[in-house]
Amino acid sequence: MTPRHARLIRRCLSATGLIAGLLAAGPQALAQDGDRAKAAAAHAAAAVAIGAEVSSANGVTKLTLTLSRPIEARAFVMERPDRAVIDLAEVNFQLGAETGRKREGLIASFRYGLFAPGRSRIVVDLAQTATIGRIETVTRPRDGAVLLSIEFQRADREAFRRAAVASDPSPALRKALVPPEATDARPLIVVDAGHGGTDPGAIASTGAFEKDIVFGFAQSLVTRLEETGRYRVRMTRDRDVFVPLAERVRIAREAKADLFVSIHADSISAAPQVRGATIYTGSEKATDAESAKLAERENRADAAAGTESNEGPGHVADILQELTLRETRTFSSGFAKGLMSQLSPVMTMSPKPHREAGFMVLRSPDVPSVLVELGYLSSQHDLDLLQSETWRADVTGGMAKAIDAFFGNRTSLTRPQPARRSAAIAPVSP
Ligand SMILES: [Zn+2]
Repeated sequence: MTPRHARLIRRCLSATGLIAGLLAAGPQALAQDGDRAKAAAAHAAAAVAIGAEVSSANGVTKLTLTLSRPIEARAFVMERPDRAVIDLAEVNFQLGAETGRKREGLIASFRYGLFAPGRSRIVVDLAQTATIGRIETVTRPRDGAVLLSIEFQRADREAFRRAAVASDPSPALRKALVPPEATDARPLIVVDAGHGGTDPGAIASTGAFEKDIVFGFAQSLVTRLEETGRYRVRMTRDRDVFVPLAERVRIAREAKADLFVSIHADSISAAPQVRGATIYTGSEKATDAESAKLAERENRADAAAGTESNEGPGHVADILQELTLRETRTFSSGFAKGLMSQLSPVMTMSPKPHREAGFMVLRSPDVPSVLVELGYLSSQHDLDLLQSETWRADVTGGMAKAIDAFFGNRTSLTRPQPARRSAAIAPVSP
């Protein structure tokens, strides 16, 4: 173990001690710091990975993690692109920047990071088709470090495909991420804090990350809405964790959300004078080139996090979904207009405050969805406001009013229903 590694393990242990102290201080101390303390405790309790090495011999390639303690691991392979996924309990990766970039044996490269609350993931790009062999944990006697190794064996395409089909994890994962809702008729609002985990989003010149600013704002909005007692509210992420764009859409759709509000903050470093909020609704055709470029930037979130989503929501495939989407977009635009009128008195809006563009997260065919760019991290003025409690209270208040109006104005509180087949077929029947 190098001195750097020893330091890391000591730091990890002292962080654990700190949290234990906080827990010992009783429920008051915890309540004050709320979710942040809980997230910190989970993170401090995570195993620390201080090494990741790849070796190969006799057609077998081995990825070995050096960990501070044993953890559970599960691995499976996926096709197109050919890769292996290693799911782990949460790991605090303390690895060099170059880790995972060197090709060795059956492994072309690998990426890692927090994947979902309490879960970390390593995605291995395979140099050729391979299946998972032994997964082993041994303790290294000289320093007590835990070595977790995952073996990869060469396999032909057919064997690889069979293994990939056998190990599709999506249903279990979806179940884990979407707890069943009780029968509660109140409208469900899904608040989506942009970015997170390995994807910081835009970065201010002060070093502040978009992911943190929008998360703080999203939490305030959730609290505001919950206080009314009129809504059920869920977040697509409840801490600093990476959530793929398609997953955000899926969470809203599977929970049968009545409204999806995505929170972001833009940055244009070349134009620090540009200020103000913009509300976006989804459309295949962007209002202007600027909006198209922004959507493109935001849509790169999955790549920025070092994980690509393999099953995006895609384009609307059939006529029924197309009809539902059109109806839903009318609702989205209606909400955006209401939101604009509630926000204009309490915050600076951009010159064209309602625009359309092809954001990935705005592609639910059946959930009215908007994306709010709260302001620009590149503007010192906006940045100060984004971090001000008073401003945040005003803006979340305006949003809550717009949401009240949206649901109050609708004849029923049900979400748009998917178009019925007969209705869809009627216009083209002879
Ligand atoms: Zn963003």
